[in-house]
Amino acid sequence: MKKNIAIIGSGFSSLAAASYLAQAGNDVTIYEKNATLGGRARKLSADGFTFDMGPTWYWMPDVFDRFFADFGKKTSDYYALQKLDPAYRVYFGKNEHITIGDTLEKIIAAFEKEESGSSLKLKEFIKKAQDNYNIAIKDLVYRPGLSPLELITASTARKIGQFFSTISKEVRAEFTNPKLISILEFPVLFLGAKPSRTPAFYNFMNYADFGLGTFHPKTGMYAVVEGMTSLAKELGVEVRTDQNVEKILIENKKAVGIVIEGEKIKSDIVLSGADYHHTETLLDQKYRQYSEAYWEKKTMAPSALLFYVGFDKKIENMAHHTLFFDVDFEAHSKAIYDRPEWPEEPLFYASFPSKTENCFAPEGKEAGTFLIPLAPGLRDTPKLRENYFDKIMVRLEKITGQEVKEYVIFKNSFCINDFVSEYNSYKGNAYGLANTLMQTAFLRPKLKSGKVENLFFTGQLTVPGPGVPPALISGKLAAGLIENKTHI
Ligand SMILES: Cc1cc2nc3c(=O)[nH]c(=O)nc-3n(C[C@H](O)[C@H](O)[C@H](O)COP(=O)(O)OP(=O)(O)OC[C@H]3O[C@@H](n4cnc5c(N)ncnc54)[C@H](O)[C@@H]3O)c2cc1C
Repeated sequence: MKKNIAIIGSGFSSLAAASYLAQAGNDVTIYEKNATLGGRARKLSADGFTFDMGPTWYWMPDVFDRFFADFGKKTSDYYALQKLDPAYRVYFGKNEHITIGDTLEKIIAAFEKEESGSSLKLKEFIKKAQDNYNIAIKDLVYRPGLSPLELITASTARKIGQFFSTISKEVRAEFTNPKLISILEFPVLFLGAKPSRTPAFYNFMNYADFGLGTFHPKTGMYAVVEGMTSLAKELGVEVRTDQNVEKILIENKKAVGIVIEGEKIKSDIVLSGADYHHTETLLDQKYRQYSEAYWEKKTMAPSALLFYVGFDKKIENMAHHTLFFDVDFEAHSKAIYDRPEWPEEPLFYASFPSKTENCFAPEGKEAGTFLIPLAPGLRDTPKLRENYFDKIMVRLEKITGQEVKEYVIFKNSFCINDFVSEYNSYKGNAYGLANTLMQTAFLRPKLKSGKVENLFFTGQLTVPGPGVPPALISGKLAAGLIENKTHI
């Protein structure tokens, strides 16, 4: 039966859900509080520079291909992709780096150069990771987290030990070189928790990294938002921006619409892709499923301090994606997860898309985005932000051997307070609820409300978890539940 569906928010999960629901014949409208679509994947353009404000790594291209194929389309119908070579570079000190190439063969050679004998171990490690990828990404993550039984299949039964061991243990059992260990632990940071708290089964992220590679959508990640928006509109989805949803209307324990600027908008179904915790605040207390104490106990993925910087010259010795792992990984992760505080010496990530495409910066200049992961909920002040900008500029100059700070001609920052005010993010988290063992699949906040009929949730705080590919899957799962399909 054709339904009228109101979707809160326009992140990747909402855009994906909207397309599936429209394809099923429903009347679908997206209500986004901000002026632009795409949620955390915003674009900033100023003084001739362009920055992706949120995601910059395009991983798991097969998930995007599967999404577009569900509509009889190809990814290339909406945007062009380029495989990056190098995929990324990791600095461990001054002039000391490892470059990750675009093929497994190149990466294996780089490992062998660093630690003799490691190439064979890496081949074996990636083979297992690929096996997990095939089980997880082709099947398990497309299950809606309704019951623990979803996780029990012939393939997972043989892997049960990997749910109780951790990435950290598995990597250390094979590799002793600290640089190689850091590189192998890096991909699980996308899942939001420490490698020592992430189940070993999640090493499928290493296959995504080394086996599938890192891609760059032409003109940046925002091209994906534009592509998905075009598809949704082609399917008849109505998209409205500057629409802050103030309340979800309930009658007889059923969601019957939303309120925007005091006006009641009726619908048969409400689906929210806004931060899960925030969505529940749009309900009267008695209709909320999870208490403040519940959220307080959860391991959130980190927040971040971001800088979008225009430089008045070309910056040398940087790859499109560059990680600065020249300080103690453990000390920084303690400051995120164990004893939340601003890290003494932060690890940081830099993205220089103008290394790949000229459209990001005027000729002879460079656009750089810098990201420092932080514990959510920390005090965020302009002074702290400036301190950390200085810290990372000093390190960048020292490690890459050049002056950069005096060439800054544009700078903007984004941090915890902005995540809260712009996206209604719980404690200013950047990418949702972490994937730890106790926060996996059916143990995550549910896609379907247990207290209110016709109310559904999607996005990075529910199933399957943080990241753009999981957001696409989350949208599909929520749409499937609305259409009464439990395994799609
Ligand atoms: C800095 C950063 C870097 C990242 N890097 C990567 C990366 O490289 N690769 C990767 O795969 N992932 C990355 N991620 C994670 C990825 O971007 C997210 O997991 C994904 O975009 C989340 O999508 P979503 O649909 O769950 O929600 P969101 O993007 O959070 O969208 C929710 C939307 O709801 C809107 N909203 C909130 N409240 C209301 C309301 N009351 N009324 C109306 N609208 C409302 C918000 O404005 C927002 O647009 C990164 C995230 C960040 C922040």
